[in-house]
Amino acid sequence: MSKLISRPGIKDAPLYIPGSHEAAGDIEPAILSANENPLGPGAAVIAAYEAAGKHMFRYPEGGATDLRAAIAKRFNLNADHIICGSGSDELLTFITRIFAGPGDEVLYSQHGFMMYPINAIQVGATPVTAAETNLTTDVDALLNAITDKTKIVFVANPNNPTGSYISTTEMTRLADGLPEGVVLVIDAAYAEYVSGNEYSAGVELVEARNNVIMTRTFSKMFGLAGLRLGWCYCSAEVTDLMNRLRGPFNVNAPAQAAGIAAMEDVAHSVKSKMHNDAMLKKLTADLKALELEVPPSVGNFLLAGFKDGEMASRAYDYMMSKGVITRVMGGYGLPTYLRLTVGLEEECQRAVAALREFKGL
Ligand code: PMP
Repeated sequence: MSKLISRPGIKDAPLYIPGSHEAAGDIEPAILSANENPLGPGAAVIAAYEAAGKHMFRYPEGGATDLRAAIAKRFNLNADHIICGSGSDELLTFITRIFAGPGDEVLYSQHGFMMYPINAIQVGATPVTAAETNLTTDVDALLNAITDKTKIVFVANPNNPTGSYISTTEMTRLADGLPEGVVLVIDAAYAEYVSGNEYSAGVELVEARNNVIMTRTFSKMFGLAGLRLGWCYCSAEVTDLMNRLRGPFNVNAPAQAAGIAAMEDVAHSVKSKMHNDAMLKKLTADLKALELEVPPSVGNFLLAGFKDGEMASRAYDYMMSKGVITRVMGGYGLPTYLRLTVGLEEECQRAVAALREFKGL
């Protein structure tokens, strides 16, 4: 047996525990645990995936050129400044590896996405949080938490799991306030769900500054979580660094084909958005009627708040026993909440019915 010496941070990094997809017994589960699109992808996307599968013995096109062109066309961007990844998770990892290392600090908002600190610890950096106000990113708190060791600031906008967002003005104020050499990552995984013109996913900031990166995903609105496909928009300088770091074939061919079809299928996005708008509103009202605290959410998920952590945990178990799978939030510092994805109408109804029974109403 050899003594294995791992790099600093790896064995200290917490394991990310994904949302469960399995309920007890043989009940058909309502999977409301991972913020997936309950409508799945459109038929054209499935057809493109299947057609590409026939050529799986060939390497994919390494630069994801056609996919980047399709993304650029859909969102009116410069394709040369897009990098695709195996989920936006992979891109978040690349960004952390490029800009942070031992002795550095990686800053994020108190209830930010868990992969930010995990990635930071893995590269030997120290994750630092800035307090939120009303479960919302607080730009002043982030700016005050910056030290000369800070290398990256991650802001999910909208944020998972709180469902809150900050306005374009606030995000610009954050970008303006960053010292030289600090990179701002706007994680806009849920951007497609947000309505209203106070919000922008971050394109203008990326185009104006070389230190701002926007990450996006095909896992949510586009219904491709299982394929692992994400992208980021960044300056020429960052694009070059990402291309040096990423594997030559980091996005598989069927994912590229499905991604192109998803970019062309605007009607499916419209349908998914309309479904989410209606069901988010209804689920929020139904849960409030059960006297649960529901902070406003602009994503495809929401938080349901209980009296205390013990009650949240019992509610989780009760819902699970009814085949309704939600997500516990202790890991996000929100132990009194459960997170529920906006599912199909009948799935949301099952969640509400289970909670009504749980509360004895
Ligand atoms: N950012 C946020 C805020 C997320 O919630 C998620 C997925 N839960 C991701 C990034 C990663 O998504 P993916 O790797 O599937 O693109």
